[in-house]
Amino acid sequence: MQEDSYRHRGMRRNLVKILIEKGIKDRAVLEAIQTVPRHFFFEKAFLEHAYQDKAFPIGEGQTISQPYTVAVQSELLQIKPGDKVLEIGTGSGYQCCVLLEMQAKVYTIEYNKKLYQQAKEFLPKMGYRAHFHLGDGSQGWPTFAPFDKIIVTAGAPSLPQALIDQLKPNGRLVIPVGNEEHQEMILINKDMHGKITTESHDYFRFVPLLGKFGWTSKQ
Ligand code: SAM
Repeated sequence: MQEDSYRHRGMRRNLVKILIEKGIKDRAVLEAIQTVPRHFFFEKAFLEHAYQDKAFPIGEGQTISQPYTVAVQSELLQIKPGDKVLEIGTGSGYQCCVLLEMQAKVYTIEYNKKLYQQAKEFLPKMGYRAHFHLGDGSQGWPTFAPFDKIIVTAGAPSLPQALIDQLKPNGRLVIPVGNEEHQEMILINKDMHGKITTESHDYFRFVPLLGKFGWTSKQ
């Protein structure tokens, strides 16, 4: 395990300042990003990249999301302590740690076996406890449904109905939807009667969501 020194915390403070300048307001999100040592997800030689506001390769053709993207998605979810959150696309596990720092109970699914195994072993070493699952998150996780919040961290071709169905009343789902070049960040709200409303929030670029309701079945 790498060390988390005064210097690293200073680098995180600068990153948090950048996120505030870009419009992130949720104190709990900013505090979580200030707390989670993002450099633990990088090789030592790439320390300088860990606290830049950009995505970075994590192997297997995948990326650790840009901190701004993590902050936007976490802010849109309006996490409350104790929320049961489904994350689709564990990847490095960084977004999962941010949600755990915000006191959510996290259920996270990864499609890639190597990334699943790495995150499942590494996060507990950092003191973070989540429920990990290897499988196709485009179909959600029916065994543990319904969820207060659902976050999809890969770009979907369309809105999977399975995820909407697994949302509790008053639940929120954040999912990037679009083509393989860019995706619109969609926020789905399910009200207490089960009525769905949809908002769009800016464009992002994610790696593709695979699986039954992702790109695999469309190719
Ligand atoms: N949340 C991650 C983090 O903090 O590092 C970033 C995730 S990366 C941008 C997208 C991840 O989604 C990849 O690890 C990819 O393997 C995974 N993925 C793609 N399709 C998936 C699916 N159907 N179910 C679960 N994971 C999927």
